[in-house]
Amino acid sequence: MQITEIFSSQLPVGETLSIKRSRFEPTQKKENLKRISIVSGTHGDELEGQYVIYLLASWLNKNQSLINGIIDLYPAVNALGIDSITRGFPLYEVDLNRAFPGGKEEYLPGQVVYALAQDVKGSDIAIDIHSSNIFLREIPQIRINKEFSEFTLPHAKELNCDFIWIHDAVTVLEATFSHTLNQMGTRTLVVEMGVGMRLTKEYGVQLLNGILNLMKKEGIILSDEVFEAREPFLSEVGEVFYINAPTSGLFVPELNHCAVISKNEKIGTIVNPLDGAILETIYAPSGGILFTLREYPIVYEGSLLARIFGNNDEKN
Ligand SMILES: [Zn+2]
Repeated sequence: MQITEIFSSQLPVGETLSIKRSRFEPTQKKENLKRISIVSGTHGDELEGQYVIYLLASWLNKNQSLINGIIDLYPAVNALGIDSITRGFPLYEVDLNRAFPGGKEEYLPGQVVYALAQDVKGSDIAIDIHSSNIFLREIPQIRINKEFSEFTLPHAKELNCDFIWIHDAVTVLEATFSHTLNQMGTRTLVVEMGVGMRLTKEYGVQLLNGILNLMKKEGIILSDEVFEAREPFLSEVGEVFYINAPTSGLFVPELNHCAVISKNEKIGTIVNPLDGAILETIYAPSGGILFTLREYPIVYEGSLLARIFGNNDEKN
C-alpha cells in the first residue's frame, strides 16, 4: 500500500491542507489492471464512509495476495471540514460537491475538487460514499442518474444496498463529483447511508460486503469467498412518498428505521413537551420500505420526517 498526497496548500492560518490517497495494487507488476476509486468525506460532517474505507483497507491489508487490480482510497476529501466538524469547506463556506469540475486557477475549493477529479480520472469505477446529514437517517442506498444508468445500474446491484434510486436527468446536479466523473467515462455511483456525525457499524459492514462483491465480479480481487449481495428495491417499479411535518414540535418516531411497513402504520408523533399534548400522529400514506427517517427530533412545519418507497405490488 502506498500513500500519496494528491493536493496540498499552505493556509493563511499557518496550517497545511493535505488531501491523501492510499493505493493498493498487486505486489507483482501486471498489465491492464482494472481500477476502482472509493471516495468519502466530501461533506465534512459525514463520517460513515470513513468507517467503510477503514474496513476495506483493513481487509486489503490482510488479503494482499488476492489483489488483482488497483484500489484507490480517498477517505477524507474535505479534510479541513472533517477536522473542524463542518459540512462545507471551511473559510469559504462552499459545498465541495457543488464545486466540480473546478480548476487549477480557481479559488481553493475549486482547486481541491479539480485535483480529486484529475486523480480519479481513468478509473473504471468510482464509488462516492455520503452519509446524509445530522437530520435524516438513510438505509444503505444508491443514487444514480438515469443518463448513465445503462452502465452504472449493473454495478449498483452488486453493492449489497437496500434501495436504488434512479434520478431523472432534470433533477441531477452537474457540479457534483459523480456527474463530472461519469462524463469523463468513469462509472460512478453515489451511496447514501446512515446519518451525519455518527457511525452505523452494521451499515459499514453491509457496504464493505457489497464493495468486495463488486470487486470480485470485476476481477479486482480474486477470492473464493462468497460476499453478500442482497436484492435491492428499484425506484422505477414504484413510487417515492415524502412525509413532511404538518406542524412544529418534538418528533418521536414509533418505528425502527428501515422497516418494511404497511399503509396507515404509525410512523411517529409530534408532541409538545410543555403541556404534554400530542399535536399530530403521523401515519404511512403507503405500504413499502421506510428508507429515510428523521433523526434530529426538533421539527418545523414542512420538515422532512420520512420517505417511503412503495413498490407497485405492495402499496397496500
Ligand atoms: Zn454528502
